[in-house]
Amino acid sequence: NGKVVIVTGGGQGIGRFIARTFAEKGAKVVIADIDDEAGIENEEYIKSKGGDSLFVHTDVSLEEDVKNMVDKTIKAYGKIDILINNAGIGAGGTIYTRPMEEWDRVINVNLRGTYMCSKYVAPHMRDNGGGVIINIASTRAFMSEPHTEPYSASKGGIIALTHSLAISLSYDKIRVNSISPGWIEVSEWKKSREAKKPQLTEEDHLQHPAGRVGKPEDVANACLFLCSEEASFITGANLIVDGGMTVKMIYV
Ligand code: NAD
Repeated sequence: NGKVVIVTGGGQGIGRFIARTFAEKGAKVVIADIDDEAGIENEEYIKSKGGDSLFVHTDVSLEEDVKNMVDKTIKAYGKIDILINNAGIGAGGTIYTRPMEEWDRVINVNLRGTYMCSKYVAPHMRDNGGGVIINIASTRAFMSEPHTEPYSASKGGIIALTHSLAISLSYDKIRVNSISPGWIEVSEWKKSREAKKPQLTEEDHLQHPAGRVGKPEDVANACLFLCSEEASFITGANLIVDGGMTVKMIYV
């Protein structure tokens, strides 16, 4: 309530839902996204429900954009309580075909972006007496399908970055944790001209020990918990939100 929250990649997908969830709880939500159409759409949705939101065009891999986004947040709301580093992208191709630029792009958005947003937000949290940072990693930090090297490596980097930040920033009362989602169905949470009903099969749901594919609210609820007073003893941790998929042993 009254908290100022930045959600990177808050225009679509999981971030779209996280932004709405925090706004419903009375937070002032900055949507930092590279996609203007999606970001403005979510800002307007939150405002239409009586919430407070500001979209700032941001490519999290660009230092000038991140600095500008943090400045605009401080100008609008005067402080930053929570940063959710959610913006993330995948890579195409295989190790045989993928140009190195693709590796750089994924690492720059997912890993450099997470570090850079934390770097420029942390001083404001310190000056405000503390804060909470949540980095959205992935279960792909721990297991892989073929041809996901840049994505998996970036997410593994985020896990290590999380404990490193948690220690550095502990002296300023800033808690830093990561969430590793598994399969989260986001097709309904795209900007309106792209959103579509998910085409999930029974098999998709039943292969999860929890009996269903994940939803953005599963991740948003984990964010709410990690930001709450109840989680004040949790820092440097990684919370897996995957319906049990990474602990399921498979023999064929
Ligand atoms: P999405 O593609 O639906 O949404 C990502 C959002 O980030 C979009 O609004 C996009 O415009 C924005 N974005 C992309 N590049 C950006 C940049 N450079 N700067 C700022 N914003 C940028 O993705 P999603 O499925 O909602 O994923 C959100 C996060 O959750 C990502 O970090 C992703 O890796 C992670 N994740 C997703 C799943 C899943 O199954 N959906 C699973 C594990 C982890």
